[in-house]
Amino acid sequence: MRAEIISVGTELLLGQTVDTDAAYLSKLLPQFGIDLHYRVTVGDNESRLAEALQLALTRADIVFTIGGLGPTIDDLTKETVAAVLGDEMALHEESAQRMRSFFAARGIDMPESNLKQAMIPVHGKALHNPLGTAPGAAFESAGKVVIVLPGPPREFIEMVDSQVVEYLRGCVGEIKSVIRSRILRIAGLGESSVAEMVGDLLDGSNPTVAPLASAGEVHLRITAKAESADLADAMIAEMDAKLSAILGDSIFGRDDETLEKVVVQLLTQRKLTLALAESCTGGLISDRITDVSGSSATLMAGFVTYSNSAKKDILGVDEQLIIDNGAVSEQVACAMAECARRVSGTDIAIAVTGIAGPTGGTAEKPVGLVYMALSAAGKTIVFEHRFSGNRLDIKLRASQAALNMLRMHLL
Ligand code: AMP
Ligand code: MG
Repeated sequence: MRAEIISVGTELLLGQTVDTDAAYLSKLLPQFGIDLHYRVTVGDNESRLAEALQLALTRADIVFTIGGLGPTIDDLTKETVAAVLGDEMALHEESAQRMRSFFAARGIDMPESNLKQAMIPVHGKALHNPLGTAPGAAFESAGKVVIVLPGPPREFIEMVDSQVVEYLRGCVGEIKSVIRSRILRIAGLGESSVAEMVGDLLDGSNPTVAPLASAGEVHLRITAKAESADLADAMIAEMDAKLSAILGDSIFGRDDETLEKVVVQLLTQRKLTLALAESCTGGLISDRITDVSGSSATLMAGFVTYSNSAKKDILGVDEQLIIDNGAVSEQVACAMAECARRVSGTDIAIAVTGIAGPTGGTAEKPVGLVYMALSAAGKTIVFEHRFSGNRLDIKLRASQAALNMLRMHLL
């Protein structure tokens, strides 16, 4: 069974609202073995919406529309679906009654335009909207189904979880195939290096392996289609093993395992304490670590020592070292880590110092140059990185590299 999603709203086209509803639905459909081939976004315009619907009905068995169910003149999804399918609309008495009570309870006269929201198709059914006024609808016509859903995410999710899921079960009957996926998360390698290393494993059709780059990490998404979830999972596990054999420790986690989560786990298992001395990352590493529940067992202190005097007064970095080498240097990174470890009495300390830009770079020390050091019993290691991107990218990439440096040390 093939599906298509049409998101309706000019605010989506203008980029003012992110289409989280369609993303939510997209994640759900594979569980029913439904293939989603197209997602379309169209503004609040009747003729373009009609055109999108007509096209969708030529290539999908089930079409979802999202948004445009409100009371105003630009909310025209239901009417347009009815017109395209040649269906009539009738007042859904229960929804109309709910709306009247809603207004009565607030002591205001209901504008008649509101009743338009309570209209539903004659050939189909209403989908209740316990969190809002406009019901959704499922139109059924000539073997095709159009499911019309509200835009506000709270209402949308409630309707999908409580009614659409049930409706889809009825549509697909016995589920003949399921699509499952797993994400392998990789740090310390770029997208092209990963692609080169895994080679023709990227060319398979079932399971498929797709690379995706995001700031400071690469994801490989393995997707398998099979008759049952167990079979699909077995195919994924087999591919996971092949990829793991090639990528080894560069894979730091799977699915929603973030780098900070993995690092906190490793530190906690090994009963090690951590301190951080951050300059250009401005506390981002501390922030990420404290996002992980249970991090208080390992993180003892995080210093944001942005100025030279803070590095000297709070951490105790030798002023002459900063004068001789500059604050962004291997020497100062090492001193920051060693001092932070001493001041906090931890097993390990990490320090980051660099130039996040866009100003402050020189030919010798360009924007994106970051030194990071790790101090542990008996040794201090330091790395030089050159990150690209804007200020936020550089901060994020630096935090990612620092967490990965810590992870590799712990392994
Ligand atoms: P509508 O149902 O089109 O009147 O939309 C009402 C509100 O829901 C809009 O102002 C948006 O903030 C939100 N919304 C509409 N469509 C979406 C969508 N696809 N994803 C997330 N939010 C949406
Ligand atoms: Mg709208």
